[in-house]
Amino acid sequence: MKVLVVEDEPAIAAAVKQGLQEAGMNVELTGDGIRALEMGLNGAYGLIVLDIMLPGLDGMQVCQKLREAKVTTPILMMTARDSLDDKVKGLDLGADDYLPKPFEFPELIARARALTRRDRLHKSRVIRVHDLEIDTGAHRVKRAEQEITLTAREYALLELLAANEGKVLTRDVIQERVWEGFELYSNTVDAFIKMLRKKVDAPFDIKLIQTVHGTGYTMRSPIRDS
Ligand code: CA
Repeated sequence: MKVLVVEDEPAIAAAVKQGLQEAGMNVELTGDGIRALEMGLNGAYGLIVLDIMLPGLDGMQVCQKLREAKVTTPILMMTARDSLDDKVKGLDLGADDYLPKPFEFPELIARARALTRRDRLHKSRVIRVHDLEIDTGAHRVKRAEQEITLTAREYALLELLAANEGKVLTRDVIQERVWEGFELYSNTVDAFIKMLRKKVDAPFDIKLIQTVHGTGYTMRSPIRDS
């Protein structure tokens, strides 16, 4: 699998590259945001590991522009520890996961594998909830015949909710299944639900994603009155 690593500090870049190569990944490297955007738009990468502070364009801008261009490659963003503002902003712009700096290599490898495994491990079937249609083979989502573009994490969350229609999923279960138990900032699940709602529910009258207060979330077809 081909991975794009975007990091302008040579020592970190070299170490990340070596770590990923030792894990069997084929790594391409750049330290410039503009070049990263070009490469991300044109290359068939299985994963992009993206630093935030970069010359040219910063990591947030690179992420935003890739998502605007409908590039759905999983993006793992490297952030300074405890920079909550960066985390929330990055989520809004379509990053899939965060790796706080400084990090241990096993954690980088584990997160990289988790993000890319999710892309491969799909069974080809179609899940329908009301007018929502999820093609789990192609990872395509439509609602009322309109195509909806999701990031890899948003997709994984939506597929989990839809595959468990009518069941309440706690935040812990969602964290375990979508993030494979990695420690998250406390509001990450809620932030992703908010973004899913924006894309999947906000444009439509009928809201499929329901909050179960104090517990978690569920997806339900509308209950008819008659
Ligand atoms: Ca940097």
